Amino acid sequence: MRASSLLLLALLIPTVLRAEENELNFILDLLRDGTKSTAEANPSQKMSGLKSASNERYTTLRPVSRSDFDLEVDARRLRKSNQATKRNIGSATILNGDVYVHHIFLGDKTSSWTEFEKDQVKRKLNEAYNFINVYSRQYNKQVRFFDEFATDVTIRSRIPRDAHADPRWTEVVIAMGDDGSAEKTIRRIKTEKNVENAIICLHVNKAALSYNLAYYENVTRCYAAERMVCFTSYPDGRETSAATYAHEILHLFGAGDLYFPYDKTPDRKTEAGRLFPNDVMFRVDYDIFQLNVGKFTAYRIGWEDHLSSDYLHLED
Ligand SMILES: [Zn+2]
Repeated sequence: MRASSLLLLALLIPTVLRAEENELNFILDLLRDGTKSTAEANPSQKMSGLKSASNERYTTLRPVSRSDFDLEVDARRLRKSNQATKRNIGSATILNGDVYVHHIFLGDKTSSWTEFEKDQVKRKLNEAYNFINVYSRQYNKQVRFFDEFATDVTIRSRIPRDAHADPRWTEVVIAMGDDGSAEKTIRRIKTEKNVENAIICLHVNKAALSYNLAYYENVTRCYAAERMVCFTSYPDGRETSAATYAHEILHLFGAGDLYFPYDKTPDRKTEAGRLFPNDVMFRVDYDIFQLNVGKFTAYRIGWEDHLSSDYLHLED
């Protein structure tokens, strides 16, 4: 795919997704796949000047030129729209037992947090955790979430709102923490807390589509420390629902979108809507218990060991 057509895709997709979706994994995949060597060598080298004060941490993000990316993409990868290879790899594998979530609240030149606003986010997270816990028990699993909150980070420039921004900015921000890198944060949590699964959540007090950076086939290794970027409201100003937090968490454990935003035809979305009309990977709802976790999603996050042949066509 040429740069011009990618740009067109990037412009079109937010409009298409606005009604019900909250990430643009596809674009991120393209960009992440094109940034392997420099991102792995030194994620902060090209993007930031870092300084820290005693109780606050600051960083500056420098835009990366489009010419830094190789936008040529294997056409076969374009069809991998729902992350089937994500199952059971990365820092979030089978969704069972104790899960640690490492949170960082981010501010920048145009956004900051009050304690009340942070509490609102924590309330939604707890709602999402409770939803996942309730459904895990229906599949004879028992998921419990634990939070840890890092020192807030203030970015002297602007936090990217576009999900197709160079995702290395997340590495820079996470590296501002005490652990020095996302990978080290995950490793510390797993050792200290003796848990199998840990994820990182970056919170931004702005209106944008939340998204995840899940790790799967062809994604750069540093993203095995799995992370999501959650905005407090949708682009139209409505507040982000607890269901969106649950949706993004499940992505990090391998769930795929059931509305198939990247398919050229509506066939699979129509079929998924018939099979799983209230699956949290199909749609979100302000009343989270209007939603559920269906058998396809349950397989992807490890709550079921086998996928029924009835649902094989939903995999790719
Ligand atoms: Zn999604």
